[in-house]
Amino acid sequence: MIIRKRFLFKGSVQGVGFRPFLWRQAQELGLAGFVQNRADGVVVEVEGEAGAVADFLAAVREKLPPRAELTGIAEEEVPPRGDRTFTIVGSEGGDRGELHITPDTAVCDACLAELFDPQDRRYRYPFINCTDCGPRLTIIDSLPYDRSRTAMACFPLCPECQWEYEDPANRRFHAEPNACPVCGPRLSLLDADGHALPGDPISKALSLLSQGKTLALKGLGGFHLACDAFNDVAVASLRARKCREEKPLAIMVRDLKTARQLARVGPAEEQLFTSPERPIVLCPKRPDSPVSAFVAPGTDNLGIMLPYTPFHHLLMAGDLPALVMTSANRTDEPICIGNREALQRLAGIAEAFIVHNRDIRVRCDDSVVMAVEGGPYLIRRSRGYAPRPIALRERFPDTLALGAQEKNTLCLLKGEFAFLSPHIGDLETPEARDFFQETLLLLERITECRPELVACDLHPGYHTSRFARTMGARQVIAVQHHHAHCVSCMAENSLSGEVIGLAMDGTGYGIDGLAWGGEFLIADECDFTRAGHLRTIPLPGGALAIREPWRMAATLLHEAFDADWQEWARRLGLGPEASTAPAVADRESAAALARIEWSLNGGLPVARTSSLGRLFDGVAALLGLRSRVGFEGQAAMELEALAKGKTDLRLPYTLTDAGSSGCRPGSAISSGTPRSLPALILDLLPAVRVLTEARLAGRPQAELALAFHNLLPKAFTALAEAIRQETGLNRLVLSGGCFQNRRLLAGCLESLRTAGFEVFHHRLVPTNDGGIALGQAVCAAARKRKGELAP
Ligand SMILES: [Zn+2]
Ligand SMILES: [Zn+2]
Repeated sequence: MIIRKRFLFKGSVQGVGFRPFLWRQAQELGLAGFVQNRADGVVVEVEGEAGAVADFLAAVREKLPPRAELTGIAEEEVPPRGDRTFTIVGSEGGDRGELHITPDTAVCDACLAELFDPQDRRYRYPFINCTDCGPRLTIIDSLPYDRSRTAMACFPLCPECQWEYEDPANRRFHAEPNACPVCGPRLSLLDADGHALPGDPISKALSLLSQGKTLALKGLGGFHLACDAFNDVAVASLRARKCREEKPLAIMVRDLKTARQLARVGPAEEQLFTSPERPIVLCPKRPDSPVSAFVAPGTDNLGIMLPYTPFHHLLMAGDLPALVMTSANRTDEPICIGNREALQRLAGIAEAFIVHNRDIRVRCDDSVVMAVEGGPYLIRRSRGYAPRPIALRERFPDTLALGAQEKNTLCLLKGEFAFLSPHIGDLETPEARDFFQETLLLLERITECRPELVACDLHPGYHTSRFARTMGARQVIAVQHHHAHCVSCMAENSLSGEVIGLAMDGTGYGIDGLAWGGEFLIADECDFTRAGHLRTIPLPGGALAIREPWRMAATLLHEAFDADWQEWARRLGLGPEASTAPAVADRESAAALARIEWSLNGGLPVARTSSLGRLFDGVAALLGLRSRVGFEGQAAMELEALAKGKTDLRLPYTLTDAGSSGCRPGSAISSGTPRSLPALILDLLPAVRVLTEARLAGRPQAELALAFHNLLPKAFTALAEAIRQETGLNRLVLSGGCFQNRRLLAGCLESLRTAGFEVFHHRLVPTNDGGIALGQAVCAAARKRKGELAP
C-alpha cells in the first residue's frame, strides 16, 4: 500500500548534513517526496510502500550523521500526491521554533585528505570545508541557516562549487560555507602597518615565527597571537608586548604525538584532543617538556590544542611543532575579530598579521577543558560547544540570565533547553560591556526568543545587575551567587528537590551584604538555606586583598594568634614583596603590618568574608609562595601545583554551631517556610596555627601545601555529614571556581563518596562563574513557574 508521511525533525539538524542524509535514505528505500529546512526544524515528506516508510524512520534514528542531534520528531500521515522523485527544496521562513544552530567544527578527515592532495583542486586551500565540518556559529547572521544569511553571502559560488552544492550525492551538498580557491575567501599577510606583503602568506608567516616574531592570526572565532612555543625569547617578548605577564598561555601542537612529548595524555585527554570541538585541553606537564618555561609558569598544567581549521593544519605542517596561541586582546578586553580592529587594537603587539576576507560574525574564544573522571570538565565553554544547548529535565518559562561579573556568559532558557552564550569574560572594560550587549542580541536572535523574565546576580554593583535595571518592562529577579552555582550544577545533572550544595569560590554577594565564598547550602531550584560556611575572616584593603595575598596571610595570623601575630608575621618574613634592599624591605613590611593591625583593630571599616578562594590566597602567602598576584586565583593555582609527595601531617579544624538560625533569604529574594537550622561554622584557623609553626620548624612547603589540600575534603565531609544528620539529605552538588583545583575536587569526591553521599559535579557547564548564568536562569524560571512572582 502506498502511503505518504510528513515528519518534522527538531534539534541540531541544520548545517550537519542532515538533508543529504535524508535524501540518501529516501533514495535507498525508493521513496519519493521532499525535504526542506524551516526555521523550526527540517520537514520531510516521504511517499511509498508503508514498509519502506517505516524503514525510513528507523534508518534516520539509527544512522543519524555524527553531528546531528534529534530532540523531537513530529509525525503525521498525509494524502499521497503521486511524486516520482525525492527532492530537496529551498528553505522557508515558516513558524518560529525549536531549531538549534550548530557550533563550529574542526576540519574533517575527508577534507584534510584533500587539503594535502596535490591533485585536488583545493590543495592547500585554507578554507576547505564540507557538510561535516567548518565554521557555523561564527559566520551566522540569522536563521534559518543558509549561505545568504552568513558571512559567505558575498562569495558567489563558482560553477564547480555550485555543482557540488546542488548535488545531493556530493559531500558538499548544501555545505553553506562551501568555497574553493576560485570563488572563496583568501589569506593575506600584512605588516604591522597593514600593508600587504607579497608571497605565500603561510610560508612567510612560518619564517617570521621561526625568527621569534609575534604574529596575529585570524582564526575561526577571533584572532590569536602566536609565537614559537619553544623559544624563550619569543614567548617572553609576546608576554611583554601583551602586558599579560603571568597567566598561562595556550599552545597549539602539530599532532597528538607532539602533545604526548609535552604532557601526560591519558585516554580521556586523547578523546578531548581529537573531538570535533577541539578545545584547549589542560594536561599535566612533563618535567622534561621542551616548551619554554615562560608559557605556563607556576602551574603543573599545560593548555594544549590540536589544529582545528585547515589554515592551522597548513601552518602546523611547517617546521615549528608547537606555537603559543593565545586570544588576541589586551587585558580584560574581548578577543579581536575584525581586520581593521585587529590592526588598531594589536598595534605594538603583533609584528605581522595573517588576515582573510571572510568576516567573523560572532566572537568565540577557544574552549578550555580538563578530563575529570574520564569525561570533559569545562573551564571555559565557547568555540566548538556554544551554542549547543544543555537539555533540562523539564520545560521552563522563557528566561534570560545575565551571569556574573567575571568570566561572564549569558544563558537563555527556552522550552526544555538552556542556551549558554560563548564566553564573554570579565566585564571590566567598555569593550567587554559592548561584547556583552552584542552577545545578548545574538542569543535572542539565534533562539528567536526575547524573554520577559530576566535573572541577574544579587550584587547591586555588578555591571549585569545595573544593566538589568535598564531593561525596562522586563521582570527582573536577583539570584544569590552561590545559590546560582548550586542550581547550575543541579540543572546540568537533571536534579530537582533539595540537595546539599557546596559552593566554594572567590567571592559573591551574600544576602547579608557580606562577601560569601565558602558556603554549605540546603538548596532546591527556587530557594536555599545557608546551613554552614567557613568562619569569616577580615578582608583588609577590600579588592586590594585579591591582588595582594600577603594581606590575607596577615589577617589569618591576626585571627589565629591574636596579640602577638605581628611577631609571627615577622618570623615568616611576611609583607609586601621586597623590591629594595633587605633593610628597607624589613622597615616597609613592619610599617605595612602595623597599618593592617590598625585597620583590623577598628581604624577602618573592614569587611569580612567566608571565601575559600581568599583562604587559599592567605595560606599560599603564609607558606612563602607569593605576596602579590598578577591575576585572581594565581596563588591558589600555585599552591595546588606545589602540593606534592606524601605527608603524615593532619591539620586540625573545628566545627561549631553558630547558635542562631541559618541565614535565610529575605522575602525580596525568595520565599518559603524558614527552616530553623543552626548554621554550622567551619573554622580552619587551628590549621593555620599548625601550618605557621610547621613552616617555621622547617617542614617543606610542598608537604604543607599537601596537608592543606588533604584537610579541606575531610573538613567539608564532616560539615556535610552534620547537615545530613539534620535533614536526611544525601545528594550533594559541588560548584564554584575552587573546584577547578583538581586535587581539591578529587579529594572531595573521594571523601564524600566514602561517607556515602551521592555526589554530583559539573561537566559541560563551567564550575566557575562561567556557569552561573544557567543557575540564575533555572532559579528565576522555577520561581516564576511556582507562581511566587506576580505576573
Ligand atoms: Zn569536511
Ligand atoms: Zn569555487
